[in-house]
Amino acid sequence: MYSIIIAIDGYSACGKSTLAKTLSQQLGYAYIDTGAMYRATTLYFIRHNINLNDNQAIEAALAIINIHFEYLDGLNTTFLNDENVEQAIRSIEVSNLVSEVAAIPAVRRKMVQQQQQMAKTKGFVLDGRDIGTVVFPDAELKIFLTASIAERTRRRFKELQQKNTIITYSEVLENLQHRDHIDSTRKDSPLRKADDAILLDNTYLNKEEQLSKVLTLVESAKAITSTKQ
Ligand code: C5P
Repeated sequence: MYSIIIAIDGYSACGKSTLAKTLSQQLGYAYIDTGAMYRATTLYFIRHNINLNDNQAIEAALAIINIHFEYLDGLNTTFLNDENVEQAIRSIEVSNLVSEVAAIPAVRRKMVQQQQQMAKTKGFVLDGRDIGTVVFPDAELKIFLTASIAERTRRRFKELQQKNTIITYSEVLENLQHRDHIDSTRKDSPLRKADDAILLDNTYLNKEEQLSKVLTLVESAKAITSTKQ
């Protein structure tokens, strides 16, 4: 059986992690939520009042930050220096600052290095913004996921409401637009579709329809890989 690396990139809140988690379960692959790594770093910076213009403080913090994932009750859970921060990294405070933190070259260098270390063997699904372009440019399957901004806002707003987060629809919209703008215009590895990524707009697709399309793509990618080996 041929195992491959699947890279899923795209704008904020277009369902990348839902798709990546389902795929990893179906295929028995490991999953790396790279956004959670930038979020955990941001949480650390907030808690320790790290000035985003102070390169020395950033380097010192990065040397101490240790992020890992564990499965707890079947859920992929993020740990920052051995503390479960899965809830804390989804807060609006973190969401509002994460793109500024993720635009810092030293932060990206450390995260990319760790992601490449974690997924040394094949059989991984990673989701993020630069997986197909920078982290794994040779990934056997690259998907660039997208959906209309209205649909993405509606989905994220509903998700936050279900978690009893106090937030308005327009705050969610503003946050997504803000992050999309910074993520796609930053100098260091901006969010963009890799030339060989498959564009998948899921505005009008339900989860089952999307999964079935992607599983077909996985089968073709595996078949192509097997002929090359
Ligand atoms: O995926 P998620 O929305 O949790 O990512 C949070 C933020 O982390 C993104 O808005 C982006 O700024 C940053 N990020 C990144 N590169 C990645 C994954 C996430 O810059 N590979």
